[in-house]
Amino acid sequence: MQTNFTPEQLADPATASSEGVIRKCVHCGFCTATCPTYVLLGDELDSPRGRIYMIKDMLENDKAPSAEVVKHVDRCLSCLSCMTTCPSGVNYMHLVDHARAYIHEHYDRPWHEKMLRSILAWVLPYPGRFRLALNAAKLGRPFAPLFVGVLRPFAAMLALAPRRLPPKASIAPSRVPDPKGRVAMLQGCAEPVLRPEFRAAAVRVLNRAGYDVVFAAGEGCCGALVHHMGREEDGLAAARRNVDAWIREVQTGGLDAIIVTASGCGTTIKDYGFMLRNDPAYAAKAEWVSGLAKDISELLIDAHLPPGDGRGLTVAYHAACSLQHGQKVTEAPKRLLAQAGYIVRTPIEAHLCCGSAGTYNILQPEIAGQLGDRKAANLARLNADVIATGNIGCAMQIAPRSGIPVVHTIELLDWATGGPIPPQMAARPHDDG
Ligand code: SF4
Ligand code: SF4
Repeated sequence: MQTNFTPEQLADPATASSEGVIRKCVHCGFCTATCPTYVLLGDELDSPRGRIYMIKDMLENDKAPSAEVVKHVDRCLSCLSCMTTCPSGVNYMHLVDHARAYIHEHYDRPWHEKMLRSILAWVLPYPGRFRLALNAAKLGRPFAPLFVGVLRPFAAMLALAPRRLPPKASIAPSRVPDPKGRVAMLQGCAEPVLRPEFRAAAVRVLNRAGYDVVFAAGEGCCGALVHHMGREEDGLAAARRNVDAWIREVQTGGLDAIIVTASGCGTTIKDYGFMLRNDPAYAAKAEWVSGLAKDISELLIDAHLPPGDGRGLTVAYHAACSLQHGQKVTEAPKRLLAQAGYIVRTPIEAHLCCGSAGTYNILQPEIAGQLGDRKAANLARLNADVIATGNIGCAMQIAPRSGIPVVHTIELLDWATGGPIPPQMAARPHDDG
């Protein structure tokens, strides 16, 4: 696509990067067919190609974002399905991230949107605050019907809070005799509050595969949640803090990998090198950290886990967008489940997002709800015993819509290789034997 940026505009590294992305687009429109918002809404402006045109016009002309442009960019899930489909290698992720940051800087959102976004940015990345907020949401749930119209996202936020929270769990790092390697595991923000069993299972499986597992002191939220809301500085601050924490760990004990159990976080950590490319103090370190980051399935596929006993159960595998489109990890989780003795099935429309997408199911509850229902229906057609996924957001989005347990892939691998039954399954009519 031809562009018309001035040399002054291109002196800004973010604009220069976006210009390179836009120029790669040949406006073929292949991406529209696999874009969830275009599939649902049928509007070119809610397709990747339409958004690219709007973002180009906004950036080229230094325009203040219009309410119309903001509406269509906000409706993008950042699911990156378009990147998988695009034959031209358009890095839509970097373009939409820039557009979101530009909108955050130049657009005066209505008060209720500003308030909601500020609450989310203040609460979600901090496990202590998040836990308190979820407990408060239980008290607020009866008032949810009062939030109508523009306040509907507040009702969605209350509805998404689980009715029961698992008890606060303290998961310890763990070593093995004669380890084959040493890995740091991301401790995360939302996952340890909502499903602490994911990380507990991950530590056991990594130990069983022969790895020492450490938690880096000072590490916290990966920054994805604020980054995707356009809060660029907050996202970069989180990235710098984590880079520092992991580099300290590398210097003190060496690290073979940084293991991530939430694929949404993994996609962002693998992008730290790009995010911090213009910071001379961090560019090289961030690139190194990104190179060390691995989804847990990427490490385990080469780790020779002991043979598993999948008990003949059928698993419906839900591929999180951040894993299949963001990281291009598509086969490892399914192969690991099959090697562990499970029968693995994948649903139709596996490429389409479930609607979770970070804070999307709060900020865009109608579209998220439609995508969630569609995904749950496609998974239900598989007649499986359990649904497995590699991302906490997907698990929380699909579970309330599903009649069967929704667990992390790593919980099933743990169970099959000697660990306990996943708690979500223990509560249902499956035995441990
Ligand atoms: S598929 Fe790629 S090149 Fe074609 S319109 Fe979409 S983003 Fe542009
Ligand atoms: S990231 Fe997903 S929702 Fe956004 S334009 Fe691409 S395919 Fe569509």
